[in-house]
Amino acid sequence: MSKKIAIFPGSFDPLTNGHVDILTRASRLFDEILVAVATNTSKQSLFTGDERVALAEAALKGMPKVRVVRHTGGLTVDMAKEVGAAALIRGVRNVKDFEYEESIAMMNRTQYPELESILIFSAPEYRFLSSSLIKEVATFEGDVSALLPPAVNTAVIAKLAEKNNKK
Ligand code: ADP
Repeated sequence: MSKKIAIFPGSFDPLTNGHVDILTRASRLFDEILVAVATNTSKQSLFTGDERVALAEAALKGMPKVRVVRHTGGLTVDMAKEVGAAALIRGVRNVKDFEYEESIAMMNRTQYPELESILIFSAPEYRFLSSSLIKEVATFEGDVSALLPPAVNTAVIAKLAEKNNKK
């Protein structure tokens, strides 16, 4: 049987325990999961694309089925086709995520109907967790260490200190 590959695209600015939880659970369903780190996002990012890839790699190195790659920058469906992915994974925390993800999934379906969108519900303890909230709290020196992989937590603290020194 051919290898079941899934793609998990996102900004991962930075990767949080919410993302790790989705990947842990997706690992039970797929043979390989590609974390596709997008760089051409409209969001203002804290970390560069290279930094986000390196951080995700450091945090996920214990997960044998997970591989971190750069998003090609084109359509995710085209990237999925290129890498032979059968599924596109996204995490859903709440109704707002659901509505957004539903429209993306429907649009992706018009482009590449063979690619199945798999929405995984967030674990209850991570429903409130987002990379943007992490950045907001960390900016004011809040402790977010319980919500991030250790390597990411260290990098967030260092990055914000570096930014503050430049001011
Ligand atoms: P994007 O900019 O594409 O939303 P993110 O890095 O914010 O990229 O999120 C990537 C994916 O991970 C999205 O599907 C998002 O809904 C999901 N996600 C983010 N945080 C969590 C969380 N705490 N629990 C579950 N899924 C999450």
